[in-house]
Amino acid sequence: MTTEIGARRPKRILTGDRPTGRLHLGHWVGSLASRVKLQYECETMVIVADLHMLTTKRTREDVDKLLPNVRGLVLDYLASGIDPGRSSIYLQSAVPQTHELYTHLQNFAALDRLLRLPGLKRMALDAGMAGRSLPLGLLGYPVLQAADILLARADLVPVGKDNLAHIEIARQLARKFNSTYGPLFPEPEPLLSDIPALVGTDNRGKMSKSAGNAIFLSDDQKTVEAKVRGMFTDPNRIRANVAGTVEGNPVFIYHRIFNEDRQEVEELEQRYRAGKVGDSEVKEKLARVLNLFLEPFRERMAFYETKPDLLDRILRQGTLKVRRIAAETMREARVKMGIEDVWKAIETNR
Ligand code: ATP
Ligand code: MG
Repeated sequence: MTTEIGARRPKRILTGDRPTGRLHLGHWVGSLASRVKLQYECETMVIVADLHMLTTKRTREDVDKLLPNVRGLVLDYLASGIDPGRSSIYLQSAVPQTHELYTHLQNFAALDRLLRLPGLKRMALDAGMAGRSLPLGLLGYPVLQAADILLARADLVPVGKDNLAHIEIARQLARKFNSTYGPLFPEPEPLLSDIPALVGTDNRGKMSKSAGNAIFLSDDQKTVEAKVRGMFTDPNRIRANVAGTVEGNPVFIYHRIFNEDRQEVEELEQRYRAGKVGDSEVKEKLARVLNLFLEPFRERMAFYETKPDLLDRILRQGTLKVRRIAAETMREARVKMGIEDVWKAIETNR
């Protein structure tokens, strides 16, 4: 049930990424495409989640990369068609109320439940923390996420399956706060993407920036061509006249997603199954398709790359807008909790 809170305004969406590197086709398929679409129907806030990045990447070197990573991420958003006139792109650590709400939500967060989250264990493993004690900050990852969502009073949060448990925690925290202090937060609904993860060019699991199997939105034409030439296909196919397998073959998976010429895809599949087309032709066509697909991204990227002031201004204005929303939410939260009255009494000596 969606709560009545906020029912009279357009639906608000919160979505975003950690600034850990550039975005790739997997991000497009998994989240960017739906964000671009949703921004026409909903009020969209796109968070650059640097505080979440710091839960696992917090060395001097990591922090030194933060500024270029933040700008690269914003550039990728704009290149993808996130419209700064419709969506507020903002920097998490520049919204101080995040910390304040995070603190209060921690009082409602159940430790045993956080400890059971498989996603957190996965993240600890990925960050090389296996066997070592779990930092409190990493344990609080979903609570911090809840603080972002509730601060924005978002109604919808687009997520992948792996993040559903985190949204459930945000819902629970909203309920607990509302029933303790009075209604304030809408219970955020997850918006599940039904597209499974896009496989990497090497066919070893999903495309990911750290696995060396990604085609980035910022790759140039030649890079895309080279990456596609090096793609994994049907390993049993030693010659072009051997019948090949289309199912589970990443080259055809990409064709099906990105090639708008359905007839060409079907024809290529038929010829591939019959051993009547070489891998090189299928790949050449795919490289052409991907380059055509990425062309508008490149145009927008080139536009913003020559205007670094504009890019910073977009992030600044988005952040200032979310700060205003966050300040209003936090002010109401303090009033509901009663801590605002405590300070008022002391401030005015009453
Ligand atoms: P890393 O290698 O550092 O884990 P990554 O490329 O896997 O990076 P993440 O930052 O882990 O990217 O991904 C953020 C979100 O982007 C995921 O929760 C998921 O929703 C989406 N995503 C990432 N990779 C893919 C993919 N290959 N297919 C679909 N969605 C993806
Ligand atoms: Mg990942």
